Amino acid sequence: METLVVDHPLVAHKLTALRDVRTDSPTFRRLADELVTLLAYEATRDVRVVDATVDTPLAPAHGVRLARPAPLVVPILRAGLGMLDGMTRLLPTAEVGFLGMIRDESTLKAQTYATRLPEDLSGRQCYVLDPMLATGGTLAAAVQFLFDRGAEDVTAICLLAAPEGIAAMDEAFRDGARPIRIVTAALDERLNENGYIMPGLGDAGDRLYGVV
Ligand code: URA
Repeated sequence: METLVVDHPLVAHKLTALRDVRTDSPTFRRLADELVTLLAYEATRDVRVVDATVDTPLAPAHGVRLARPAPLVVPILRAGLGMLDGMTRLLPTAEVGFLGMIRDESTLKAQTYATRLPEDLSGRQCYVLDPMLATGGTLAAAVQFLFDRGAEDVTAICLLAAPEGIAAMDEAFRDGARPIRIVTAALDERLNENGYIMPGLGDAGDRLYGVV
């Protein structure tokens, strides 16, 4: 598994504002959106392309276009939805599937409550959107779900990650059978006793959408 912590002053600037407890929900949503687009630029570095030639007004020019099947973007509900527009802005031809997962706050284990994904993901490159890689339980379950349907490789885009989450993902997929990448804006210090990332940014879903 490969982990990339994106080192860029604009990423750091936006993440700092996201963390700030004084940042209200509308501003938080806008910043998350912008941050995802920056992370998506790095996360799609290995997106498959095929050779293509177009005619400019002057002459043929050789280039590339995205390969088929189109990449699949999978936001994990609920908080991953706040990352979807930022991702599809960069990859407008991607298809979008949904995975509803919730963390049981007493056991910290992930449960699936909704799926809307193609049955067959053979040959698909998948991009999972999950803002907080905390214990790793939700992300590991989501990645396994996609591999079980045949996904070729999975890149997870997370606003923040904890060392415990990275270690759990490493352990869950240590056979290295299929490529996994994690792209994040920062690797924080640790989890607290409630499974929150420290210093983190709090509950990403609540900060995006308010407490329900
Ligand atoms: N989920 C969140 O929203 N925040 C955390 O810190 C950990 C998990």
